[in-house]
Amino acid sequence: MQYLLKKTVLLVALCSVGSAYAANQTINADIAVIGSGWAGIMSAYDSASHGKKVVILEKMAFPGGASMLCGGQYAIQGSDLQKAKGVPYDPPQSLVQDLIANGHLKNDLTTLKLLAENSPRVANWVISTFHPTFIDQKLQYRAEFRFDRSLYLKGYCSGFYPKVQSAVEKAGAKLLLNTRAEELIVKNGRVTGVKAKRGGDTVTVHAKAVLLATGGYGANKAMLVEPLKSALYYGPQSSTGDGHRMAVKVGAQLENMEYGKRYPNGIESAPGTATSIIQGNYRAWKEAGFLVNKDGKRVVNEKASNHNILTVLEKQPGGLLYLVMDEPTWNKFVEGIKTQGVTDENLKKWLAANGSSAPIFAHGATLEEAAAHAGINAANLKATLARYNELVRAGKDEDFGRPKAFMLREAKTEGPYYIVEQKPRFATTMGSVIVDDHLRVLNKAKKPIRGLYAAGEVINAVHGDDSSPGMNISWCTTSGKLSSEFMRADMK
Ligand SMILES: Cc1cc2nc3c(=O)[nH]c(=O)nc-3n(C[C@H](O)[C@H](O)[C@H](O)COP(=O)(O)OP(=O)(O)OC[C@H]3O[C@@H](n4cnc5c(N)ncnc54)[C@H](O)[C@@H]3O)c2cc1C
Repeated sequence: MQYLLKKTVLLVALCSVGSAYAANQTINADIAVIGSGWAGIMSAYDSASHGKKVVILEKMAFPGGASMLCGGQYAIQGSDLQKAKGVPYDPPQSLVQDLIANGHLKNDLTTLKLLAENSPRVANWVISTFHPTFIDQKLQYRAEFRFDRSLYLKGYCSGFYPKVQSAVEKAGAKLLLNTRAEELIVKNGRVTGVKAKRGGDTVTVHAKAVLLATGGYGANKAMLVEPLKSALYYGPQSSTGDGHRMAVKVGAQLENMEYGKRYPNGIESAPGTATSIIQGNYRAWKEAGFLVNKDGKRVVNEKASNHNILTVLEKQPGGLLYLVMDEPTWNKFVEGIKTQGVTDENLKKWLAANGSSAPIFAHGATLEEAAAHAGINAANLKATLARYNELVRAGKDEDFGRPKAFMLREAKTEGPYYIVEQKPRFATTMGSVIVDDHLRVLNKAKKPIRGLYAAGEVINAVHGDDSSPGMNISWCTTSGKLSSEFMRADMK
């Protein structure tokens, strides 16, 4: 949380735009974009750089929503960069097959087709227009994908966002902060603008097209159902489903509202709130870390897809797993979680609690001692470590199929050892406003509501019941760019 607060303070300092507008204002624009995440600003940039008058309404005091917080894993399927990095052929059908497998056929097929056909072109456009830099030289292996597709943005999303924001402003789009869209204006069945509040004042924007780019609804318990409702949340407070609700008020329909992207690797850093430790885990699999349940038994391939690990995790006693590490693995793990905002102060506190309170960061000079602090069966854990080492020596994980490339060395047979809890966490929601193949919002009769478009997480049914690694950034940038192209075409 401290990490998020620090980011927020920085962001407020970054943002000077939006304050020049007077009270109770009426603005005439070509396009009103609601929300300044990846979807909103990609769309705004493209429209403004094609001469359209664009106004972006942002309810928070800082821009970016989830797009400012996100981990920066970006799937660049089919792009020139993916080819240059050694995957010469990764056709749209392969993406469709992977997303349908990971989304369990719950995907919205209209938007999935749009994504598959356009994401290579849009990734090329993002890269050649905004020149992001990436941390990794190599594309990352992910179990969800048949080809390697993921790269991490340098400085994660918050490292890249200011670059795009400044390009958007240079292109002439106006960003109004602290300006909450509350109601769509409808005349003769057409959306012609939006009414917003800034403090006690009203801002009315009349526009030829309105784009909902308001993100998800993870921070709004009233819109969540189980198992999302009781999962630990680690997303922004801005994700309250305003776009979904404004759209419904003008006749739109929603789909897949029960789904969200749950990961099996959160720690409960505050009651009800998670911190992701996925970067620590990634490093642990390259060392000698392995997962066990409360009984001290290994139950899953640690390199399986997030979804598969989660499915196994939920069946375990207490509905959680534990990551067991020797000291060299722990050191790498710590390096990873520090990139996700965990501080030395946090670590000191959690290690001092030594399993007596959440989050469980238990440790001990011996495996038995660490297991006792974590509340895990020590005898079984000892046998599990011995079995893990046997599998490493054999060069094959006959028990769970962890890839050989991630069984590089045996776990040390001498302490100290560290054991960290793994709980389900979520931030991103999959529930969508339903759109057509031009991202026009549809009414109950499946006819477009004229003048109203949507992009980004507000139309996340593209992923099905679960999104794949790096595909949210891919979808938000792709649908953002496409929305601009469709709105501009419809204005001709
Ligand atoms: C911590 C974290 C890590 C993540 N890591 C990754 C990753 O590595 N890779 C990946 O692909 N995805 C990741 N995701 C998911 C991804 O970041 C989001 O799906 C994506 O950024 C959503 O973009 P968006 O533009 O649709 O919405 P957002 O970025 O959420 O933007 C929506 C904006 O709309 C504004 N808004 C909402 N309602 C109103 C209103 N009524 N009036 C005015 N403004 C409004 C919000 O304040 C917000 O700024 C992560 C998410 C989180 C939270």
